[in-house]
Amino acid sequence: MAFFSFFKRSTEDEQKTLDEGLDKSKQSLLSRIGHAIAGKTTIDDEVLDNLEEALIASDVGVETTLQIIERLQTRVKRDKYVNTDELNRIMVDEICQMLEENTRTQEQNNDLEDQHKPYVIMVVGVNGVGKTTTIGKLAWRYKQAGKNVYLGAADTFRAAAVEQLCIWGERVGVPVIKQQQGSDPASVAFDTLQSAKANNADVVLIDTAGRLHNKVNLMNELTKIKQVMKKVVPDAPHEVLLVLDGSTGQNAFEQARQFAAATQITSLAVTKLDGTAKGGVVIGISNEMKIPVRYIGLGEKMEDLQIFQREPFVRSILGID
Ligand code: GDP
Ligand code: GDP
Ligand code: MG
Repeated sequence: MAFFSFFKRSTEDEQKTLDEGLDKSKQSLLSRIGHAIAGKTTIDDEVLDNLEEALIASDVGVETTLQIIERLQTRVKRDKYVNTDELNRIMVDEICQMLEENTRTQEQNNDLEDQHKPYVIMVVGVNGVGKTTTIGKLAWRYKQAGKNVYLGAADTFRAAAVEQLCIWGERVGVPVIKQQQGSDPASVAFDTLQSAKANNADVVLIDTAGRLHNKVNLMNELTKIKQVMKKVVPDAPHEVLLVLDGSTGQNAFEQARQFAAATQITSLAVTKLDGTAKGGVVIGISNEMKIPVRYIGLGEKMEDLQIFQREPFVRSILGID
């Protein structure tokens, strides 16, 4: 059975976490849209110009903003007269359609973990973006789904990193494979896969040290971890999850581009969308990256990681029920 159907939280709880998490982004976006249409009853060129500014200021990104504006222009031409009251609803339509055209369908993604045993996920990203936290949350989700989960503490660089992962392991009730600080991350990954395989694990999550995309040595280290893992599980890693800090807005976008250019990334998680007004960045990242946004982080608790779903996200950030 697909892993999501096991998931215990009700859809109302998830909707609430999403709406509360995106509230700041929504308030800020709606106020900018409010300014864009102030004193106007129909969507005309001036409104579209203002709207363009509003979307760019909301971290949607220039390229994606231009695509949205173009779609709205076409829509206005087709429908002849569009009232500004209808703007948010039309934007939800057009943005969702745009994302549907430009991103991979989510269904393709959802049962990957059933096709490999163990299914190996390597988690990468710069320091402090939320890698270890996202691993803890994912471990919990997979465990809820009845999976046998193993964690590998291959961030051997930062002093507290192993301990932080162990705390998550205890909290969730899954084993963590570790060595002492400063040991070779590839060796930790190797040990983890060996234990996982010997114990019939379904899912393995490998934590890695925060590294900057432009640091050649560190990127080489990722390559080495991958190569060593293949000695145990020949087609591992099955997923390379890049974690991005959504509260850094366009910076997160830029990191996604640079990481994707430097190493093979297969999925994205955008964290810390709670408490930031820059949530619009997820729309741009999702639209422009050829890599699917798989998860969004909406808080620090175990249950605050969600599967990214285009329509609920876009509706929530534009305040349309
Ligand atoms: P790492 O260095 O990439 O492993 O990042 P950590 O997992 O250690 O996270 C850094 C900080 O961000 C921690 O204080 C986390 O609790 C916090 N954090 C991670 N994800 C989220 C999120 O979705 N929302 C909030 N509010 N905080 C988060
Ligand atoms: P700077 O802040 O730009 O000087 O970058 P650092 O040299 O501090 O590196 C950024 C992050 O990469 C660090 O916080 C570490 O998590 C990680 N890092 C740096 N050097 C190494 C290394 O040799 N091995 C590993 N595993 N991680 C490293
Ligand atoms: Mg960490």
